Amino acid sequence: MSSGALVLFSGGQDSTACLAWALERYGRVETVGFDYGQRHAVELIARQAVRGRLARAFPDWAVKLGPDHMLDIRAFGAIAETAMTSERTIEMTDRGLPSTFVPGRNLVFLTYAAALADRRGLDVLVGGMCETDFSGYPDCRRDTLDAMQSALRLGLARDLMIETPLMWLTKAETWGLAKALGGEALVAITVEETHTCYTGERGILQAWGYGCGSCPACQLRQRGFESWVSDGRLDVPA
Ligand code: ZN
Repeated sequence: MSSGALVLFSGGQDSTACLAWALERYGRVETVGFDYGQRHAVELIARQAVRGRLARAFPDWAVKLGPDHMLDIRAFGAIAETAMTSERTIEMTDRGLPSTFVPGRNLVFLTYAAALADRRGLDVLVGGMCETDFSGYPDCRRDTLDAMQSALRLGLARDLMIETPLMWLTKAETWGLAKALGGEALVAITVEETHTCYTGERGILQAWGYGCGSCPACQLRQRGFESWVSDGRLDVPA
């Protein structure tokens, strides 16, 4: 029996699905976010809005939802500066990676999260990494995470697990997972409160949520939502 889970939580669609997944599965769930000098405070605001609405809409989850932790990793942000953290444009690099790729980001996140989880007595890390139709970030691959899990287990002498419930889901299926976990109430929270857009745009509420509608994150989110709707808003059980 697990002692509980720490969810890497950005306030986006994917990590919100992960948070719901963990709340359904574990008796104690805490969240961690990283301030690495993001351009947009809107992401930090979205985190609290999502946590608050989840707790109000799902009393069974509210009793399991523990504290939120925000870790300052701006020193890493300064090293890893890319379009995520500065004003550079979003494009493909000659390595075949989007310019939003922050080298080593998930490895750093997981190392910090593992240290925090150890201090908090939690033995599961939950992250929204996904290989299926994401942009090919090498640190989102399950192989990378398996290696990271081994390194953390050895280095912390703790039976830490890295769970990635979205790893093999399409973006459409991630909407279906949210519906399976929390019904249309969780879909509505995901649409209205989560933030995915790279530009920090909130603007007008679209069927799939807020965002500029043209950055890669918005396009992925919109296409996933529309595909899920055209397939009949099916549940995708965890
Ligand atoms: Zn956008």
